[in-house]
Amino acid sequence: MKIYFCGAAESVTGSCHLLEMEGVQEGDAKARVLLDCGQFQGSPEQEAENYEAFPFEPQAVDFLILSHAHIDHCGRIPLLVKRGFKGPVYCTDATADLLPIMLRDSAHIAELDAEWKTRKAARAGKGPVAPLFTIEDAEAALKNVTPVLYGQQIEPAPGVKVVFNDAGHILGSAILEIFFTESGVQKKFVFSGDLGVEGRPLLNDPTYIKKADYVVMETTYGNRVHEAGETSLKSLWTIIQNTIRRGGTVVIPSFAVGRTQELIYELAKYEEQAGLESVLKGVKVYVDSPMAVAATEVFRKNIADFDEEARKRVLAGEDPLDFANLILTSTTDESKAINEDHSPKIIISASGMCEAGRIRHHLKHNLWNKRNSVVFVGYQAVGTLGRTITDGAKSVSLFGEEIAVNAEIYNLEGFSAHADREGLLKWARGFEMLPQKFYLVHGEPDSKQAFAQTLRQETDIKNPIIIERICEVDLLTDGSETQTEQAPQQTLAPQPAAPEAAVDPDDAKAAVEKIETVQAHLDTLLSAAREKLGKAQEGGADAESYAALKNVVLQLEKDTIRLASELVDKK
Ligand SMILES: [Zn+2]
Ligand SMILES: [Zn+2]
Repeated sequence: MKIYFCGAAESVTGSCHLLEMEGVQEGDAKARVLLDCGQFQGSPEQEAENYEAFPFEPQAVDFLILSHAHIDHCGRIPLLVKRGFKGPVYCTDATADLLPIMLRDSAHIAELDAEWKTRKAARAGKGPVAPLFTIEDAEAALKNVTPVLYGQQIEPAPGVKVVFNDAGHILGSAILEIFFTESGVQKKFVFSGDLGVEGRPLLNDPTYIKKADYVVMETTYGNRVHEAGETSLKSLWTIIQNTIRRGGTVVIPSFAVGRTQELIYELAKYEEQAGLESVLKGVKVYVDSPMAVAATEVFRKNIADFDEEARKRVLAGEDPLDFANLILTSTTDESKAINEDHSPKIIISASGMCEAGRIRHHLKHNLWNKRNSVVFVGYQAVGTLGRTITDGAKSVSLFGEEIAVNAEIYNLEGFSAHADREGLLKWARGFEMLPQKFYLVHGEPDSKQAFAQTLRQETDIKNPIIIERICEVDLLTDGSETQTEQAPQQTLAPQPAAPEAAVDPDDAKAAVEKIETVQAHLDTLLSAAREKLGKAQEGGADAESYAALKNVVLQLEKDTIRLASELVDKK
């Protein structure tokens, strides 16, 4: 097998790797699989790379496996389709639900950007500038999306099997296991995607994979240790209490997908926090971003992917993403009305780095007043308004006005969706058998170097291979030309992979436990559903929730029959 590292090679963004596998039988055509097809983001030079041709023929790619819905992983799929790719895009069902939101937003930004550049070009006597891709391109690409479930094994090409495992990074994010045959022997390739943080609200912990022959792993925070999520959350509660008590407003610039829903989820539990209940009772919490509102709906639809705590709340009849004083606003008028509300309140709005969106209006209305607080909950890139404020600017320019920064400014780092050095190390240690090749991608050079050093010192992975640039490696031959000088040229002693046909006992145990949980819930829930549908018979239900409930029951019936057919002994 060959891997062509086509992105997230030099730095973090533009995740895109092409795998080329030999056919199952001699003479079979090769299978070409693309892992992710993300945008390069950051400096103008990096963004310019998005316009370049792919270093492969898009029409020669058989299928695409998408790890998650962040733009640096999915943002060039519309281009890929536009340039000839015709295969399916496999991803988890939650990713499939988030993709329309992400790709349409990205297309919208690209169209606005092209309009602005066209006006500028016209003044210089030059022709129009085309957007990276249009809304139509995004819509066309979305038609190729094929959702799958976590843990489900699919066979997108003869002899190639793929399993998506929860990465705990954002809703729907996955670590990929790809099984294929090489010289008659079954091998397993693992792609980490982006790895999440243990113990985060709503999301499950990242899955630890025990066996792999080849691994490609991200290293975003290979040289950093984050503040614990718990610590940041405690700070947030204190800031909210102090600000509300002095009659101020708390403004939280937040990413519309992920961070915002985590904040809603934590805020929904305020009644359970000592001291917070009395302060927050009746205080309005605005989530002011159409994209965040749409994403929150996707979260609700994919409750099955939530962690145990959140699922328990749902099973107990709660909506974990709603509470009495939460107000979601979509229209511009609703958004403007927030500024008319002079009572103490919380405003969560996008974008997270304050580069665009409604958050800029809220900053204009709130930054100048020392009673207020602005709380940053995500990474602020150099050059963004968010970074300027967190770096301590005394005033900022918003909508042509100079606005004094008098509000209290906080930057809480513990809400990161990325595993830090410790989390990455724990994931790498999860391999019980030493992989033959271990490649590091998706990190700045310093981060990759530092993490490679950590692996050498603290694990059995003595020879990690740092990918430093767009390059091709053959897994059968040595990848040494891309190795760093510090890497000792020792040969690994890979243990032979156990035949994958055998079922992993731990896996089987987990499956049995799953049956027990499903069984435990099903009885109670079916009776509750029967009661609700019974009321509908008497005319006491609204049409929409009736239809939704009926749909689930129909799906359950179908799955029950499928279960029965799987239990029939096959000849
Ligand atoms: Zn990501
Ligand atoms: Zn990423």
